[in-house]
Amino acid sequence: SKVPPITLNNGVEMPQLGFGVWQVPDDEAERAVATALQAGYRSIDTAAIYGNEEGTGRAVAASGLPREDVFVTTKLWNGDQGYDSTLRAFDASLAKLGLEYVDLYLIHWPVPSRGAFTDSYRAFEKLLADGRARAIGVSNFLPEHLGRLIEETSVVPAVNQIELHPHLQQRAAREFHAEQGIATEAWSPLGQGKGLLEVPAIVAIAQKHGRTPAQVVLRWHIQLGNIVIPKSVTPSRIKENIEVFDFSLDDEDLAAISALNEDRRLGPDPATFEVA
Ligand code: NAD
Repeated sequence: SKVPPITLNNGVEMPQLGFGVWQVPDDEAERAVATALQAGYRSIDTAAIYGNEEGTGRAVAASGLPREDVFVTTKLWNGDQGYDSTLRAFDASLAKLGLEYVDLYLIHWPVPSRGAFTDSYRAFEKLLADGRARAIGVSNFLPEHLGRLIEETSVVPAVNQIELHPHLQQRAAREFHAEQGIATEAWSPLGQGKGLLEVPAIVAIAQKHGRTPAQVVLRWHIQLGNIVIPKSVTPSRIKENIEVFDFSLDDEDLAAISALNEDRRLGPDPATFEVA
């Protein structure tokens, strides 16, 4: 594969770049995932709440790739938190994906007001022990939530998937993850493609390397060590977004992008987000 792996804290290898399918309807997800697999992606990021686990699973099956060559992530939705309900939700996700195991299962949001993430994670530990998830982790956990989880359970999460892009660089979280052996996975790595890809500093770096702004932003993540899961339904962009392993940003480029941090979220605050 053209994408190098990151070795997670339990030895499982995860491609450093994968394909995200948030906000892609089920039938369109099937087409987009098929295009991504043809373009060389070997990691797909879905979630129960995205409503496209079935389309994702159909595309994986139709690709003809050996199961062990594709890394599939899905996520537990907030309303399903709790020990028994997590096990039931996992069964439903697996059935929709048409798989016998997932590579990575994540708690989608901590919902600290509900106080159920530790029970949910104990169910994750059972799924891991039973070989139905090759790795388990979390998403949108603040360091305080990770600290509680690590204190109260046995398996350190393999991954924390958080909002991360040049306008929200998450330095404290990345440092905390590194200390704990947790891989940092960036969601909305392109800042949802909004203003970020028109920022003059990024456009200038793209011109200097003969690349696109999206490729420059993804390359910045890769050089920082982040796992990334850019989303697109446009075949040319799907292909463009994986072509980031044949050039490098220099120190000056990296410094210019680091200077763009504004600690500005596009998504909700994990401390208070509790949609069920
Ligand atoms: P993203 O940062 O990947 O941006 C995607 C958008 O950027 C596209 O819709 C398109 O408008 C634009 N784009 C993509 N490639 C481009 C290119 N080459 N040139 C120009 N524009 C381009 O945003 P995202 O979809 O929010 O995040 C990626 C993935 O992260 C999601 O699909 C999902 O899998 C995951 N995610 C997870 C959570 C979570 O709570 N865990 C939340 C949001 C997203």
